[in-house]
Amino acid sequence: MYSLSFAFLFILISVCNTVPTKSSNGCGYDACNLGDPNKLNVHIVPHTHDDVGWLKTVDQYYYGARNNIQHAGVQYILDSVMHSLEENPDRRFMYVEIAFFWRWWNEQTDEMRNKVKQFVNEGRLEFISGGWCMNDEASTHYNSIIDQFSLGAEFLRDQFGECARPKIGWQIDPFGHSREHASILAQMGFDGLFFGRADYEDITQRSKTKNMELIWKASANLDRQSWLLTGVLPNGYSAPGSFCFDLFCDDQPIMDDPHLHDYNVPERVKAFLDAAHNEANQYSTNHIIMTMGSDFQYESANQWFKNMDKLMKYVNAQQTNGSNVNVFYSTPSCYLYALNKANHSWTSKTDDFFPYAHHPHGFWTGYFTSRAALKGYERRSNNVLQVTRQLNAFAKTNLRNSTFPLSEAMGLVQHHDAVSGTEKQEVAFDYAQRLADGIDSAVDVINRAYSKLLPLDEKIPPKAPQFLCQLTNISECLPIEGKNQFTLTLWNPTVHTISQHIHVPVTKKYSIRDSTGHVISADFIPISEPTKNIPGRKSFATNQLVFKVILPALGFNTYYFELKTGNEDISITQNEECILQNEYLRVEFDDQGNLLKIKNLKKNIVVPFTSQGFYWYSSFPGNNSQSEFQASGAYIFRPISSDPQPVSDKRTITCIKGEIVQKAVIVFNKWTSQEISLYDDSKGVEVEWTVGPIPICDKVGKEIILRYDTDIENQGKFYTDSNGREVLERIRDYRPTWNYTKVEDVSGNYYPVNSRIWIKEPNRQFTVLTDRSEGGSSIHDGSIELMLHRRTLYDDALGVGEPINETAYDQGLVVRGKHFLIIESPSSSALYHRVASQRLYMRPLATYSLPQLSYADYSETYRQTWSALVKDLPLNIHLLTFEQLDTNQYLVRIEHYFELNEDTTYSNSVTFDLQKLFQTHGIINGIVELTLAGNMPVNDMNRLEWTTIDKESSKMDKPSLETISKNHFEFDVNLFNQTDDEQIPNDFNPEQGCLFCINRQEYLGSKKINNRINEHHHSIKEAIVNDDENAPLDLSLKSTTNNSPLITSNNRTNVKHRPLFDIKSDIPPMYGQEEFDRFMSDMIASQLDFSSHPYLNMNLFPTSPTIPVHHTQSYKKKNSSSSSQDTRIAQLAKQMAYERMLQEIDYQRHPSITKKSKTSTNSSSSILTESIHVNHILNDVMMRILHEMYEKQQQQQQIAASIPPPRASRKGELLFVKKQNVNNDEQYNANLFNHFINNNNNTNNNKKQNKHNNKVNPSSSSSSSTSSASLTSSSSIHKKNKHKSKLNQSTNYIPKGRSAEILNNAKVVIGTDGKQIRPKRGQYRRYESEQLAKAVAAVLSNEMSVHKAGSYFGVPHSTLEYKVKERNIKASSSTTKNKNESTSSMSSINNKDNNSISHGENDDEDDDKSSKGLVGFLPESNSSTNNNLNEIDDENISNDGDDDDDNDDDDGGGGDDDDDLEESIN
Ligand SMILES: [Zn+2]
Repeated sequence: MYSLSFAFLFILISVCNTVPTKSSNGCGYDACNLGDPNKLNVHIVPHTHDDVGWLKTVDQYYYGARNNIQHAGVQYILDSVMHSLEENPDRRFMYVEIAFFWRWWNEQTDEMRNKVKQFVNEGRLEFISGGWCMNDEASTHYNSIIDQFSLGAEFLRDQFGECARPKIGWQIDPFGHSREHASILAQMGFDGLFFGRADYEDITQRSKTKNMELIWKASANLDRQSWLLTGVLPNGYSAPGSFCFDLFCDDQPIMDDPHLHDYNVPERVKAFLDAAHNEANQYSTNHIIMTMGSDFQYESANQWFKNMDKLMKYVNAQQTNGSNVNVFYSTPSCYLYALNKANHSWTSKTDDFFPYAHHPHGFWTGYFTSRAALKGYERRSNNVLQVTRQLNAFAKTNLRNSTFPLSEAMGLVQHHDAVSGTEKQEVAFDYAQRLADGIDSAVDVINRAYSKLLPLDEKIPPKAPQFLCQLTNISECLPIEGKNQFTLTLWNPTVHTISQHIHVPVTKKYSIRDSTGHVISADFIPISEPTKNIPGRKSFATNQLVFKVILPALGFNTYYFELKTGNEDISITQNEECILQNEYLRVEFDDQGNLLKIKNLKKNIVVPFTSQGFYWYSSFPGNNSQSEFQASGAYIFRPISSDPQPVSDKRTITCIKGEIVQKAVIVFNKWTSQEISLYDDSKGVEVEWTVGPIPICDKVGKEIILRYDTDIENQGKFYTDSNGREVLERIRDYRPTWNYTKVEDVSGNYYPVNSRIWIKEPNRQFTVLTDRSEGGSSIHDGSIELMLHRRTLYDDALGVGEPINETAYDQGLVVRGKHFLIIESPSSSALYHRVASQRLYMRPLATYSLPQLSYADYSETYRQTWSALVKDLPLNIHLLTFEQLDTNQYLVRIEHYFELNEDTTYSNSVTFDLQKLFQTHGIINGIVELTLAGNMPVNDMNRLEWTTIDKESSKMDKPSLETISKNHFEFDVNLFNQTDDEQIPNDFNPEQGCLFCINRQEYLGSKKINNRINEHHHSIKEAIVNDDENAPLDLSLKSTTNNSPLITSNNRTNVKHRPLFDIKSDIPPMYGQEEFDRFMSDMIASQLDFSSHPYLNMNLFPTSPTIPVHHTQSYKKKNSSSSSQDTRIAQLAKQMAYERMLQEIDYQRHPSITKKSKTSTNSSSSILTESIHVNHILNDVMMRILHEMYEKQQQQQQIAASIPPPRASRKGELLFVKKQNVNNDEQYNANLFNHFINNNNNTNNNKKQNKHNNKVNPSSSSSSSTSSASLTSSSSIHKKNKHKSKLNQSTNYIPKGRSAEILNNAKVVIGTDGKQIRPKRGQYRRYESEQLAKAVAAVLSNEMSVHKAGSYFGVPHSTLEYKVKERNIKASSSTTKNKNESTSSMSSINNKDNNSISHGENDDEDDDKSSKGLVGFLPESNSSTNNNLNEIDDENISNDGDDDDDNDDDDGGGGDDDDDLEESIN
């Protein structure tokens, strides 16, 4: 179980040997020179700043090509530096950009590599930041920031180990600094951050008050976990004064032979001492840093080092003459360490460093929008990357190397001259090309994954590759044009069932079959004129199909398109009043095309628009000779006037109304238009904007905004996100930390908007979500404006040397994107914008295919729906990363993405079962929780401690991540699994898991043991994988209060095991000791052989271990009897349950004590939450205990005799039966189990076995009476939880979930090769497809509940549930829908089917097992809340996203070919 509150959880699943251990070498802080405490210590930090693309491409920079543009060759820099380091062991160098270092490393000999490793191990060469690039902070999304750091960190970890682990952020060049970025660094375990650029007024004040260094409190949610010592460097990042000794510099070298004419040592030394003292005046300790280097310097490193050697020698020599300056080679981390040891108290700051200005007219706010198409393409590429990783992981294709090109390209594009849009045009093309190449490679992975997931068993389908249609945002998908049939497969990368509206551009009419074969309704809508006129659009499609899909969480649906004829009922009017309305929203336009108002019908909130539309600012055309002549350019936004001009006087409106979508197409002029759409069940309004080609025939640069003017009285305040995560309050013409001089009315108020911006007043909030990073502001009260596209005619003289004037097809570039508008109350807005923005950047991935098969054949051959989850995870959980590293090793990042206090329900901590994510993989056998970059176990994280001037200490309990929430539990299912260390793997491939492992021998050696472990567990996992629920027996809930040291077992060198339990003996038993003892003594008396326990079906395999060996002391005795182990387990479990319950209660009551954060939960709702939590958790833990006991009982029954089965139990069903009265189900299961054992060596019985199992399903409906009877038991447990004395009764009831597991396990059979074969999902599905439609119909007609129908027709409940939902939502009549919903929730109660309907129902809980009981127990008020959430969960947010299927983005989208690059939209 993991509990999270607004935090990332990053874990490595399965054991991992690649996590480095600490080296005893003198690297890191140990290798630092801390100077002389009585002197002014000058840390000389030699460095080079190597942009991974800017004026040249990354490869040109690496090789030193095209030096006519800029002299820069990174390979020579690294060559040269290594030689210089060799010459003098005192010398230090640091390196940052792993994109370059990786290129260089790949070309080195072993000899050179060993040399470099030695430098690293001795602290002479230090990696700082260590990301793939030095990323931009304004236009980047947190997902990609984390990824780019992780990629670099992985390289360093693989090649160098702990000595190379970066500890310091080094953002010397980015143009403004985001708070979220600092928070991410802190969560990666960094100790500090240095940068070069901050607002000129800010720096002036800071240097005067000696506050150039401070503690940045980088998160409003994470408290001191996010604190980061942050320093503004003294000279940007250049050398002081006249001390640049680089090849490109003209400063005087140290000429130190007094016999020669130009001897200059006294003059040079004096100048240096002056520079040092001057700098010391601005800093608060007796340590200062001098950055010796700059862009692409050190190509002739000797020139630098030789002069620095001399300079230091002569400067320090002055100490004998009384000088207090002590100068030495150092690194940023050593400087930071010296600051840490200086015993100083620091000021702190909670806002960010945006916007950045270097003079009164130089606001670097243009790049928030520059190259809008590239910004969109980058965001879209991340979407493809994350989906590809998921597909690779869930299909277990193990093709991580093939996703590397896209990971690498994404790493590059995060650079501060890439996605920022401040590179030369040619370089921008190169980035787009790299993304496109990466996507091409990803498509291979997608195809390999789908070739495993799509075909039904034993089918060898004809070749029909999946392909992306990346230009569907301009309604173009050429491969499907004119085809008689094609398929569309949509992968939903979120952990929630979602509904989406899909657009497919077509040249013919098609009917669409959903994944069950039913024809679904679709609107046949004309493609708008502005779309058809986009330059470069090649499509003949004039219409698009718009339809709604409901996609399973972490899974896919396939839609089959076949030709049809007939007419659609679409109403189209022009230049008339237009009203778009659904159940929730009403959007009104007048006959002139003006948006008049949007009304939230349910909440009765109206937002009138005084105006809404496109405006332009004229770019300032300066020559940059002085501040006043600053031009607007790639970096700078500087309008001539503060009043933007409307792009046209009038507009036309076309109103299109279908059944699924209603839209207003509003054309302002030839180059600006918007399509405002309302989907049938949407709670937000989608605005698709199209801008370009921006005309410049008047020789005026133009910067286009889309402005929404309302009557909301926001009083100068507005809110913008930070890298798509936390949100900061902005106040017009104001800076929180210094006195701001207002010079630029508009650009000085622009902020980066990565995902959202809003304005609000007490009862209304207007939120705009974006699909990419844009600059935005609220220049007037009631107004939100977002800059969409820029075309400037002047360079702003900051280096790029070009105006931002993008063209394609010989005209200005056209860009298209989306906004999503939410009108809500402030208190409920977070629920909508949080969920919607996650789904906007993590959209379903659409792939098309052209199978030459009729639908009948297609559905016989292919699986059309699949989900990795049986049930959605809680709504406030987002799966950020799911990546297969190796055969059985996965990297998982999960986040709670609601901020504290922004939503009464979803801001709370959430508990979930990690195993749920691995249902299709098997049972998790080991987890290591890592820092955010994935290169260090959280338990090894030891951040430096700092103190603020208010005497607050940054010290926190270790491990720090666990204090995110007191309710943070370890999940370790190693309980019963033990490695067979003798077994040698036979399919070992060292390249699989390690992207950067070059030294194969070394890697092989270190991986051997690990791989054995994996191999073994692989068999376990394969064996246990099944169609339905397979939650492992997890008795290892362990509270964070047990911070016991990790125990390292002998035979897994680096694999760490936590003590399984650490129970305080003074915790009272949870239920009657007497009862428990009696039960347990029965168990002990039964003398069961633990090794043949059915739960451990691994024991049935030759490769499996037999007796589990436990690692705690209490388990060390090898001969301890299995039943006493059982006893111990049960005792521990009950104690833990009690302890955990107490913690939960404590936390719910006193969140402020356990969490240093504000809590606004009012008392009544917190009590409510408490009861939910306690009941849920108790229920959960009790289940586990009872399961375990039941297992023993099961064994007894089994030993008795086997009786023919009356029926099968359904998987995942929760039944309680009296222990004295075991019903036939269990007996049957026991029988089946025996049957299985008998078949264990008979490999030919596989099919029979499977068939048998399948047939058994339909008959299970006969269990209904048992079910309803057991409901009482279930809810009674919950009700009685509050009264401990009554809990005894619950021990009389045994949950039956385990029987399902036995049944599942029983399906496992051994193949001829000795490997286990598991029944494949496809067989099950095929069976189901015959019955599914009937089951759906039965539920829809209210004849049966989902549960009952599922049982009756023998189809999985999860699938049925989701199908029914799909139908329900489709049903236009809301009354019908409500009816169904109530039926569903009834059925969930009556049948206590844990899979039953309602996704939102247990947003609070994690666990399937408890839903029924919980629902039964919930007070009414709470149930209704949940219902609301349901709607949100399933429908509301739905289209938020863009519905457009696929990758609409852009441009480069193109990318595939050079000409496509300019494809329109970009
Ligand atoms: Zn740079």
